[in-house]
Amino acid sequence: MSETLCVIALGGNLGDVPAAFRRACEALSNAGFRIRRFSSLYRTAPVGCEANAPEFTNAALSGFWDGTAPGLLQLCQRIEADNGRPNDHAHHVSRTLDLDIILFGRETVDLPDLKIPHPEAARRAFVMDPLREIEPELANWLLSVAEEDPGGMRN
Ligand code: AMP
Repeated sequence: MSETLCVIALGGNLGDVPAAFRRACEALSNAGFRIRRFSSLYRTAPVGCEANAPEFTNAALSGFWDGTAPGLLQLCQRIEADNGRPNDHAHHVSRTLDLDIILFGRETVDLPDLKIPHPEAARRAFVMDPLREIEPELANWLLSVAEEDPGGMRN
């Protein structure tokens, strides 16, 4: 299978988040994901979390993956679990490490548990700012897709 240029958004607001990001990069690399770029760290206000939730640290990375999109999701979920995030976590709560697949090349994935481009990415500054920093062309592409199909991106 040929390699696909993917973008993963990272976030967390509990514990040593930069250390969790480093461990995530190491685990991705060990599993064969070839990291190409990693953004700066962005400090952002929590969105929709519990009251008084700590600030988030966000970043994005791009890299090459020669497996499937569900395979990459499985890997990301294992890395989240290895970093202290329970599998049955609630949606908007504080977390040690969150990994979201934002882009899988320019492919659309529409499975029950996996939507790519990530449906909320285009309207989240904490995703778009780091994405623009590392892969400006893909950021523009994502925005154009979201504009053409706002309903689809909101699914
Ligand atoms: P969250 O709490 O935001 O991390 O959401 C995790 C859930 O979103 C998981 O159950 C995934 O199956 C689902 N999901 C859907 N699309 C994606 C995606 N592109 N990247 C990561 N998780 C996704």
